[in-house]
Parts: sequence; C-alpha cells; structure tokens
Amino acid sequence: MEWQNWAGNVTATPQQIAHPGNEAELAGLIQKTAYAGRPVRVVGSGHSFQPLCATDGLLLSLDGLQGVIAADSSTGRATVWAGTKLHALGEPLRAAGLALENMGDIDRQSVAGATATGTHGTGPTLGNLSSQVVGLRLVTAAGQTLDINGTDQPALFSAAQVSLGSLGVITQATLRCLPVYRLHERTWAEPFADCMARLDERIAATRHFEFFWVPREDVAACKALQPVESESGQASENPPALSERLRRYIGPERVDWSYRIFPSERNNRFVEMEFAVPAADGPACMHEIRALMQEHHPAVQWPVEYRTLAADDSWLSPAYRRHSVTISVHQAVDLPYADFFADAETIFHRYRGRPHWGKLHSHTAADFAALYPRWDDFQAVRQELDPKGRFLNDYLRRVFGLI
Ligand SMILES: Cc1cc2nc3c(=O)[nH]c(=O)nc-3n(C[C@H](O)[C@H](O)[C@H](O)COP(=O)(O)OP(=O)(O)OC[C@H]3O[C@@H](n4cnc5c(N)ncnc54)[C@H](O)[C@@H]3O)c2cc1C
Repeated sequence: MEWQNWAGNVTATPQQIAHPGNEAELAGLIQKTAYAGRPVRVVGSGHSFQPLCATDGLLLSLDGLQGVIAADSSTGRATVWAGTKLHALGEPLRAAGLALENMGDIDRQSVAGATATGTHGTGPTLGNLSSQVVGLRLVTAAGQTLDINGTDQPALFSAAQVSLGSLGVITQATLRCLPVYRLHERTWAEPFADCMARLDERIAATRHFEFFWVPREDVAACKALQPVESESGQASENPPALSERLRRYIGPERVDWSYRIFPSERNNRFVEMEFAVPAADGPACMHEIRALMQEHHPAVQWPVEYRTLAADDSWLSPAYRRHSVTISVHQAVDLPYADFFADAETIFHRYRGRPHWGKLHSHTAADFAALYPRWDDFQAVRQELDPKGRFLNDYLRRVFGLI
C-alpha cells in the first residue's frame, strides 16, 4: 500500500493505513500494533516535505476524527477533533462567534499536523498555531489517554505543543480563539529596496505583514492584512499590468471574514526550506539569501517568503523564547534544488536559524541540541512516554540522534 506526501517527494509503503472513527478504536489499534512490536506513525494532510509520516508499520489517519466538539464565545475557547482540516474550522467557529487568531498561507492542513510542526502565519505579536493550543488529548503507545494543559502539567504540555507526532497521537485540541473578525487585504508590488527601507515601520503598523521577494523582477510582492469592523472596504482597484508570476500574489483589495482572507491556493507542486532567525537579523539574512540567488543560483525563479513570528514557550517551537523572522525558499519539485537549499541552509545556520519541522533541512541532533535549550528535556519526555520508540521512524531516529 503506497502513501505519498503532498509534494510527492516522500513515499512510503505502510503495512496498514487505518482511519479510526473514534478514540477507543484508535487506542485499540495503537495498543495492538505496539504490542506486536510494529511502528506507528500518524498523518494529517501529508503537507510536510520531510518524511515525518513515513512508516512501514501502521499509518494512522485522523480523517475520521474531524469537527468542532465545543466552542464557547464566553471563554474564547474551542475544542476540536485533531484531524479537523483548518478549512473546516472557519464556518463552525464563526457560528459560535469565534475565529483563529492567525493562519498560514493555506488552510489544507489538519489541526494536529499543523501544530505538531509549529505551523505559523505572519504577525510580530502573533505566535504559531501551537501557541494557540491550550489543551491536548494524547493517546500514548500504551493506549493510555492523557488530557494535558499548561496549568496542570506545564512540562508535558510544553513538550506536547510541538511534538512531531513522537509522543503519541493527539485526538483533540482546545484552541484559544478571538471573537470572530474581518480582515482587510491589500497587496502591492514595489522595488525590493523600497520594501526593505520601510520594513520595520510596516511590520509595526500592520497586524499581518509579509512579502514575497520575486527574483526575476527583483520586486517585493507585499501583503498587509488589518482587522476591520465593517464589511465594506475601500473601493477595489484593478491592479496594474503585472507579470504572470506577480499576478499570483497581487489582487484587488478585499474585506472578508479572517478565515477566508488568510489562505491562498497553492496549485503548483514545490519543495520548501524555511528557517526562523532572530527577528533583528531578518533583514541581513534576507539580503544574503537574495545575493546567493542572484549570484549563484539565478536559475531558481521561485519567490522567497518573509514573515514575522512572536516568541513562545513550546520546547521545540522554532520561535521558542525568540521573536523571529521566518524566511522560506522554494523550488518546483521537478527542478534541481539540492545545491541551492544546501547553500541557503549555510546562511540560515550562521544566523542561528531554526528549521521549520515540516520543511526541508539537513540539521542533525547536535545542531538541534545547540539551538533548543530544552532539547534534552524533550527527549526525556519522549523516552518516558514511548520507551520502546513505537512512534519513531528512521527519519525521527536520525533527528533525535538515536542512530
Ligand atoms: C502548500 C503548502 C503550504 C504551506 N504553508 C505553510 C505556512 O504558511 N506556514 C507554515 O508554518 N507551514 C506551512 N506549510 C507546512 C505545513 O503547514 C506543515 O508541514 C504541517 O505540518 C502540515 O500539516 P499536515 O496536517 O499536512 O501534517 P502532516 O504533514 O500530515 O504531519 C505533520 C506532523 O504532524 C504529525 N501529526 C499529524 N497528525 C497528528 C496527530 N493526530 N497526533 C500527533 N501527531 C500528528 C505527523 O506525524 C507529522 O509528524 C505548508 C506546506 C505546504 C505543502
């Protein structure tokens, strides 16, 4: 039975792919497989570029565990099944008067998959999706169900917020939400130098600011999202004549519910590397990546994305205790990317960048131990919850320094 991820750069042949319809069935499957000495991995939407979900044992999909369980506008919290796709949260949360604080470029990921890798959007005061989680239900290798939150089990919770599916299977997540809100979106293109000159000012003045640097034109395709009270936005003007690539990022102004504004469509398959660098180093790092592409990899035409991310407390979050800028490089999946990504990684490494867990990198356990102050603590929690390593695959064994 063949499985492949969204980009198609990872394939696996699990012995079994299962879609449990409830928690008891899921716990039974885990216990049975673990008892037989076979590995278990769990998959969300398969949008990670790394072989995180690859296994030759049991691959668990939580597509059968989706939907909002409870949402309460008085507490601002919503408990959802962990397999719920982000795009399926918008309407039911709005009906309850709630919305996610922030979202990334797309809304195809599952709640558990997105939080397990520290998936994020942009905004200097806004943490990643994992930092919006206030409670989790985890089924361990022993088939035990643990309800975890930051007040009662602070250490376990800080480990479980970004866990790469290595502590067990998350079946439910409780999210801290905002009252439902609308966003006004403005997109425009400007010379790269102009964008960099006004970057700090724009980031400070905008709830969500980001740009894509487009190498061919050497312009920044900028996006600014601001909350607005009413449905009516400024009259939308037709954008000026733009190249085909720029037209993907620039459109008319619009106002809509936040969950309709955040996500874009990504139809062309690509591979990606992204690092979170200290916020103050973002511009210098961006300049180096641009110079690298212009001088050494001019054939790569995929844009570079620049976003901001607030610090948080999850032990394996790339933004752990560090306000960050994230910079991502891309290439079409069927074009050469290894040399370019290796050169980019050297630059990110120099800035003490922490790689996105779902995206490509070649960092080792020794690199991670130097980048993450609570690395050893995470390993201790993992060892305690899964002493026989049932939730590991070869990739995670390498990342955790076990082989
Ligand atoms: C087109 C595209 C756009 C993207 N945009 C962004 C972006 O804007 N911002 C960003 O930060 N990232 C982005 N990413 C990366 C993506 O958000 C992450 O790779 C994310 O983990 C994918 O979610 P998923 O549901 O597909 O998880 P998968 O890739 O299926 O799984 C990711 C990890 O989560 C674990 N997992 C899944 N379900 C569970 C569970 N129930 N319990 C425990 N562990 C679980 C898996 O074992 C695996 O380790 C993008 C990726 C693509 C392909």
